[in-house]
Amino acid sequence: NINTKEDVLKAIEANNVKFIRLQFTDIQGVVKDVEIPVTQVEKALSAGISFDGSSIEGFVRINESDMVLKPDVSSFAILPWNQSKGVVARVVCDIYLPDGTPFAGDPRFVLKKVMKEAEDMGFTLNVGPELEFFLFEKENGKATTVPHDYGRYFEFAPADLAEDIRRDIVLTLMELGFDIEASHHEVAFGQHEIDFKYGDALATADNVMTFKYVTRTIAKLNGLHATFMPKPIFGENGSGMHVNLSLSKNGENAFYDQDADMQISDEARYFIGGLLKHVKAITAICNPLVNSYKRLVPGYEAPVYIAWSGANRSSLIRIPAARGKGTRVELRSPDPSCNPYLTFAAVLAAGLDGIRNKIDPGESREENIFELSDKGLSDLGIETLPPTLKDSANYLAENDLLREALGEHVHKNVLRLARADWDAYRIQVHDWEVERYLNTI
Ligand code: GLN
Ligand code: MG
Ligand code: MG
Ligand code: MG
Repeated sequence: NINTKEDVLKAIEANNVKFIRLQFTDIQGVVKDVEIPVTQVEKALSAGISFDGSSIEGFVRINESDMVLKPDVSSFAILPWNQSKGVVARVVCDIYLPDGTPFAGDPRFVLKKVMKEAEDMGFTLNVGPELEFFLFEKENGKATTVPHDYGRYFEFAPADLAEDIRRDIVLTLMELGFDIEASHHEVAFGQHEIDFKYGDALATADNVMTFKYVTRTIAKLNGLHATFMPKPIFGENGSGMHVNLSLSKNGENAFYDQDADMQISDEARYFIGGLLKHVKAITAICNPLVNSYKRLVPGYEAPVYIAWSGANRSSLIRIPAARGKGTRVELRSPDPSCNPYLTFAAVLAAGLDGIRNKIDPGESREENIFELSDKGLSDLGIETLPPTLKDSANYLAENDLLREALGEHVHKNVLRLARADWDAYRIQVHDWEVERYLNTI
């Protein structure tokens, strides 16, 4: 376990580390890094390393373009691949302005800020994400959407051709300190899922970023392309990133109440109430791409209707069967293209709002919501998630709780990016349109 600067120096010495990658995440959720040779490590650990932030997505503020990366030493880890030029390690960094104040556009800072609010109420958020992804073939070095195999849910060889690659990813993650719980082929051709143990929100967000580039790297080393694009193929399941959420208080799971209805506590109910209240705005953060909304349609195990339930998987929010320590709320809308720091910050802020204001989540729905008619839905008052990025961005624009939680800088930039993506999409002429209209109109 590495907790101090001295621990890092010792680990560098013991493993003969030659290079260190200083990592951080932009607002879009893309991991960035600068590499330093080990000769610079003392400086990095004491004063931090300056970099020009003006070209980083969502950071742009030319007058403040000099920023400083400060390593969070507890995230120090050795990258187990490509050691031909010497051992490479990584460390996740926080971003500061030259005057020493934390940069408001650093997603990690935003999450820590909301976690601090939770802490002031006695709560720690634990998150267990379930990341799904596709492995595609490459042609002439370029990614295609040809699936690497024709396996289906939980299938194994010969339909599942990716057993070895999945194991390779799992082993690499384990070397990086992940506690892997399971891995399996998912429903779509070429689609997979690897689950790791829940942890506190910050460590888990760091892990999600690590997970994504490890998966991409191992796929590449195997001649394949891994993608976390939410819906790469029309007519097939997309990739989700379900998030299992629980709060702990004084070391106990605050969502468990042995004597209550469904054995879930009032806190859990109010947390759900807060999620439901803010979910339309949260969607702009959990589902940040035009493509994200192609996944959130009926028929592909992805949520559409805003409701919660005991175990029913047709709901947006469900309570998996485990109780006691494992009591948790599963939010099924996020997809793996989201920025995990901002996603966890947003869901936590919404859940805490629910607890503070005792927001009633209403009745749980145990029927298959997808089988209800429009009238059935409206009689029950069940609404739908925003159908496009444009809609969710509008909800986020009006949501004061999330503006406050994300901070003005991030709120504004998330909206800017969402609207830019929507506008770029809106003016395109897609193959679908040409095929549909060219000959008939
Ligand atoms: N791929 C589905 C989604 O988009 C989830 C499928 C599953 O895990 N059962 O959320
Ligand atoms: Mg799963
Ligand atoms: Mg799954
Ligand atoms: Mg799940």
